Amino acid sequence: MAEMLKVNGLKAWYGESQALHGTSFEVNSGEVVTLLGRNGAGKSTTLRSIMGLVAKRAGSIRYDEKELVGAPSHRIARAGIALCPEERGIFSSLNVRENLLLPPAIRPGGMTVDQIFELFPNLKERLTSQGTKLSGGEQQMLAIGRILRTGARLLMLDEPTEGLAPVIIEQIAATVKTLKTLGFTILLVEQNVTFAAGLADRHYVMELGRVVDEIPGPAFADRIDSLKTYLGV
Ligand code: ATP
Repeated sequence: MAEMLKVNGLKAWYGESQALHGTSFEVNSGEVVTLLGRNGAGKSTTLRSIMGLVAKRAGSIRYDEKELVGAPSHRIARAGIALCPEERGIFSSLNVRENLLLPPAIRPGGMTVDQIFELFPNLKERLTSQGTKLSGGEQQMLAIGRILRTGARLLMLDEPTEGLAPVIIEQIAATVKTLKTLGFTILLVEQNVTFAAGLADRHYVMELGRVVDEIPGPAFADRIDSLKTYLGV
């Protein structure tokens, strides 16, 4: 499989405080890969660094042969990467349709609003509902729908299942599988080990700002119980 993203010795700082201490991992085209780890391990910072949202970075992030460390986030977006943040980033005063129309299609291949509704039929029923009136699951689907507008090929999802009911988590899992069959590459930050197990081709475990373990998908089942204990979930 072709390598799409190669993160090598990535360091990142918030002011004087160093959050990443040399993170290395890779994602191949078409894969679903998860980053697991305890709170504060540096998972969100890794996604934000790839997106160019952490000002001070060092090391290397290669995407499609381009170096992203040093590149501004708008150029990273144009290269084909999108981030769906943990807090979802929905505009609460706008309705579903307006929220979907706001992110511009910055690359060819960005989905139309109708294509996004095909993927999330229940969002279509909520077309004119304001962001604040949506359930947590609907908000998460809207947040994923918004990044599909942009035409990005590498989708980074930060804890998409957080705070959601099991039945909604199943819908999000089905969505991730559909996106994979549509050819998207997905980098997922998760605390929900069971959700990650059913989806990912590969898993990385982060600790103290570094990747400390790589677990291939088929070997993951044997590790679930110990990982749950380790992560405290
Ligand atoms: P969580 O699941 O709790 O978000 P995480 O693995 O995603 O955990 P990060 O949010 O990346 O971890 O945090 C990594 C480190 O960076 C932590 O020590 C955290 O306190 C610190 N950190 C995160 N965001 C900021 C910020 N905006 N300013 C300063 N320090 C931060």
